[in-house]
Amino acid sequence: MSAPFAAPSFALDGRVAVVTGGARGLGEAYARSLHAAGATVVIADVLDDAGAALAAELGERARFAHLDVTDEAGWAALIEQAVAELGAVDVLVNNAGIANAAPIEHFSLAKWDAVIGVNLTGVFLGCRAVVPAMKAAGRGSIVNVSSVEGLRGSPHLHGYTASKFGVRGLTKSLAVELGADGIRVNSVHPGFIRTDMTTRIDPERLDIPLGRPGDPVDVAGAVVFLASDASSFVTGAELVVDGGMVTA
Ligand code: NAD
Repeated sequence: MSAPFAAPSFALDGRVAVVTGGARGLGEAYARSLHAAGATVVIADVLDDAGAALAAELGERARFAHLDVTDEAGWAALIEQAVAELGAVDVLVNNAGIANAAPIEHFSLAKWDAVIGVNLTGVFLGCRAVVPAMKAAGRGSIVNVSSVEGLRGSPHLHGYTASKFGVRGLTKSLAVELGADGIRVNSVHPGFIRTDMTTRIDPERLDIPLGRPGDPVDVAGAVVFLASDASSFVTGAELVVDGGMVTA
């Protein structure tokens, strides 16, 4: 006798999700969408006013926490407080990121350290901080935000590209290590999305098969999917959300 069919569930009721860089841009769309799917959301960012305003707007199931993702002690405090007050951290979206660019001869060590620090070391610190709580709960989903620049090379983006390839690689090693603990780890690779990060790029110059740049909400569905039980057999995957740009 076969089991009755259970449709995949995208619902996040009763789950706790932490979104880094959640105060604006893509992170804001992730926070809003995870919240709309039923999760309690912790918006973690260095932008205190914007983060607090978003949490206040979302209401009861949302809160803001100041976090610089490069701060090891800050991560420990954030996870400890979330577990103490909310009971668990079921979902971690490592989204905070910065970008910089220069021809290689002019790419300063300070530029390199800054982008690797936030985009790669920040993701490492977040994963390391949350894993004990997820292991204790016997479940968890970590969504690491890479980029199409974690799949290809682009001129001048040396530090950004290295950080996003690094996030993709770190995601694989964690997925393999943590599968037996019920923890899934996946990466998301957005293409060109209209945010404060991309205001200086002209989308007309890009070859996007779907014919338009993305909006933050275009990527949020992928994050909700990876956070939810609908992706229960997905780990170590790289989900490209770019309107077909890297395929073209
Ligand atoms: P954004 O600049 O609008 O938002 C980035 C957020 O991260 C801000 O809220 C910022 O305060 C926060 N942040 C930066 N440094 C931080 C730190 N040290 N600690 C905590 N928070 C910090 O950029 P975005 O476009 O929304 O980018 C979000 C993520 O998506 C980044 O990782 C970016 O690399 C990635 N991404 C963006 C695009 C795009 O086209 N916009 C494409 C691919 C990947």
